[in-house]
Amino acid sequence: RSRHFLTPAESMLWVPGLTGEKLAGASGFTDAVTDDSRLVLRLIAEARRDGAMCLNYTQADEIKRSNGDVSGLLIQAEENDTPIEVLAPLVINATGAWADRLQSSKTSEDTMHIRPLRGSHLVLPWSSLPVSCSVSLFHPEDGRPVFAFPWLGTTVLGTTDIDHEGSLDQEPVISESETAYLLEIASRLFPGSPITRNDILSTWAGVRPVVTDGTGKAPSKENREHALRVDRGLVSIAGGKLTTFRVIAREALVEGLGEAASEVLRPESKPVFQGTDHPSRPATISHQCWQRLQGFYGPELDQLLASGPLEPVTPNRASDLLWAELCWACRREDVQHLDDLLLRRTRLGMVLPNAGEALLPEIRNHCQPLLGWADQRWEEEQARYLSIYHNAYSLPPQETSNAS
Ligand SMILES: Cc1cc2nc3c(=O)[nH]c(=O)nc-3n(C[C@H](O)[C@H](O)[C@H](O)COP(=O)(O)OP(=O)(O)OC[C@H]3O[C@@H](n4cnc5c(N)ncnc54)[C@H](O)[C@@H]3O)c2cc1C
Repeated sequence: RSRHFLTPAESMLWVPGLTGEKLAGASGFTDAVTDDSRLVLRLIAEARRDGAMCLNYTQADEIKRSNGDVSGLLIQAEENDTPIEVLAPLVINATGAWADRLQSSKTSEDTMHIRPLRGSHLVLPWSSLPVSCSVSLFHPEDGRPVFAFPWLGTTVLGTTDIDHEGSLDQEPVISESETAYLLEIASRLFPGSPITRNDILSTWAGVRPVVTDGTGKAPSKENREHALRVDRGLVSIAGGKLTTFRVIAREALVEGLGEAASEVLRPESKPVFQGTDHPSRPATISHQCWQRLQGFYGPELDQLLASGPLEPVTPNRASDLLWAELCWACRREDVQHLDDLLLRRTRLGMVLPNAGEALLPEIRNHCQPLLGWADQRWEEEQARYLSIYHNAYSLPPQETSNAS
């Protein structure tokens, strides 16, 4: 990291539109950015190349024990009524905010307690809040840092940090008071770009699995470090950051495998992802897009390029997603529902107006044959996707919202 002070004039050059009122200056620094979904997908793809079996829409229901020691796990696939028992002497419970549910056992007093803290975001058209770099701003209400950052041709404003009181079995949803909190920082700090609810393209919320000591401190004062508990073959981890995922994973494996860990773990000095010889960049793909594709697809990039048209899905917008990426996701990235494709393999549903509904017929032309869905299935999936979008990725209805 390289921190340096920016004078008020320099701050305004970096962040055009920022209010000059009471502006004493800013701190400039470099940091890293990632796409959380694509990071997980790349890890899954490489784990499979190394021999792992990875299943989605499969729930771990119960830890099985024999004389107190872990002997396996009961799992249940969404589309199958019969649970399956997997035999294993070691289970790593990395279920985030849900970690409480699996870790409980009569053999251990030392369980960790998760405080689910929700963070919500607004996705705005870039033109309504045109930031050219990530900007961290102190909210005038409580002094918390809130980010405005450019993302796939939009600007994202977030996040909040409040107790998530909803059921963990439902998708988390932004509340009316969080929406107002985020709009307030935009209007107070960027007075020249008045943003209203009507400008908002989409929203999303996530739940941080924060490990708490239960002393009831304010959410933002809770420790964000990861915690790890070992209970006779069950290693539970929670908390931490995306940036420390490798450190956390190695710690869990060392705890679980003991001395054998040094034989099976890749040396720490080696990069997380395997290096590859990439094919040469097709002339129609920009350097920036090429760099993104290398990061997203790694050793599978050459196959991705052959999997569909190399044209952008939204040619008139800043998102550089290619049709080939949608085709690849349908073929190779475990798409079970349309919302997988439009919200998690790609983010089309979040960056296009109205959930990208206008693009759905064209997406259907490309994707329905690859997914092998009959017309009725496609229509059911489309209805399911739009319902999820309206319930969890758009604004809460103003009059009925439960402000928290
Ligand atoms: C709003 C927000 C902002 C953040 N900002 C940053 C940031 O700027 N930088 C940073 O480094 N980190 C950030 N993080 C933290 C980062 O995202 C977390 O480290 C991460 O989400 C925690 O990862 P995880 O894999 O432990 O849990 P999760 O991401 O919650 O994953 C747990 C998974 O387990 C699945 N699961 C749960 N129960 C079961 C079960 N019984 N069987 C099978 N699967 C199950 C869930 O469906 C889920 O997919 C942020 C998090 C949030 C929510």
